[in-house]
Amino acid sequence: MNTGASSEERAIALESLCAQASGCELCPQLVASRSQVVFGSGNADAQLMFVGEAPGASEDRDGVPFVGASGKLLGDLLTGIGTSRDEVYIANVLKCRPPENRDPRSDEIANCSHFLRGQIELVAPVVVVTLGNFATKLLREDDEGITAIHGQVELRSFGQRTAWLYPVFHPAAALYRRPNLELLREDFARLPQMIADGAPQQAAAVVLKAEPEPAPAPAPAPGQEPNPAPEAGAPQLDLF
Ligand code: URA
Repeated sequence: MNTGASSEERAIALESLCAQASGCELCPQLVASRSQVVFGSGNADAQLMFVGEAPGASEDRDGVPFVGASGKLLGDLLTGIGTSRDEVYIANVLKCRPPENRDPRSDEIANCSHFLRGQIELVAPVVVVTLGNFATKLLREDDEGITAIHGQVELRSFGQRTAWLYPVFHPAAALYRRPNLELLREDFARLPQMIADGAPQQAAAVVLKAEPEPAPAPAPAPGQEPNPAPEAGAPQLDLF
């Protein structure tokens, strides 16, 4: 992926990826149950990208992510931070509705994840907000649950791009449990400052080195305290 591509070139490549996804038949059960592929929507050059779980019935009908009850709440939360769904980009881990709205299966996630990674590389957002456990675990490549890590921003590489990854509760979890809504609002309230602080250095891919050697401390993530010095013997974060 050419990180120097213009926004027009990236938008064209995103349309081509959408066309590929629309013809995807890798998951026979999803192909049989879907009305259409729900690729993503919004600003293809957005600074803020949201990643949910999978289309539900409303999304499968309309071909657009987050148009049901969760989508209404997401829209309200976006309004609350002074933006709208036209300004951000919204996608899901799965592009097809699972039958009976069951959870995405691991083989389906594996089949579909290259589309999401392509979307992130092509939209090139400053912040990728993962909504709930499925998106968070997939993009962090870790099994840590959303309750433990929501609101904690970290630097991640997506192909040749880097972005801040910011896990928050899924809107459905906030609709289901009121205290989650307060936490979700608090986490959303930090987004404008993160966007104002700007993109991580393009070159700042984080790698864990097996042989630690002294390195300058990485810059603190936007809105967060500087990291404490690493413990002796701990692997060093190396920014390049
Ligand atoms: N609608 C979506 O598009 N994604 C979700 O995760 C939930 C509802």
